[in-house]
This record gives sequence, structure tokens and C-alpha cells, in this order.
Amino acid sequence: MPMTHTHTYVELEISLAAYKEIRAKLWAAEYGHCFVVGDEDEHGTGPIDMSGIAVIPAPYTRCSQCGSVIHEVSPGRYECKCEPAHG
Ligand SMILES: [Zn+2]
Repeated sequence: MPMTHTHTYVELEISLAAYKEIRAKLWAAEYGHCFVVGDEDEHGTGPIDMSGIAVIPAPYTRCSQCGSVIHEVSPGRYECKCEPAHG
């Protein structure tokens, strides 16, 4: 009996550059299970099932108040929704 894998996901289209960055990082981290069967190599362009993995834009830091990922809004200045304009 052949083994089949069932994947349930929706496809979110992103740029090829972003796709390649994600693919390289997952591959380097040995997250091969994210790659759909039959396209599980570092050069594949098939869907990558990232269930349980959240993407965040870089560079970032973490809010000293609440721990959320926050981004630079201007050089050296970070804002978090928990308290605008701190950091
Ligand atoms: Zn915060």
C-alpha cells in the first residue's frame, strides 16, 4: 500500500526572492518535512507547508514591555502597539 501524505493548506503567493529565502532557511534548519512530497529538495519550487511556523520581517527587536516583535519605524526608534513611541 503506497504511503500518501495529505496536506491541507491554502496557497499564499509571495515573490520568488522571498520564497527562496524561506526555502533556504527551512532547508538549512533541516525542516525537510515542510516541503511537499516529490519536491523536497533545496531547489524545488513546490508549496512549502509552514504550519506552526510564523514569518516575521527583519530586522526586529522585542518590546521591553510586552515581548512582542517590533520594528524600527525610524532610525533607532521602535514602536509597539502596547505603548506607542517607547524604545
Ligand atoms: Zn509592547
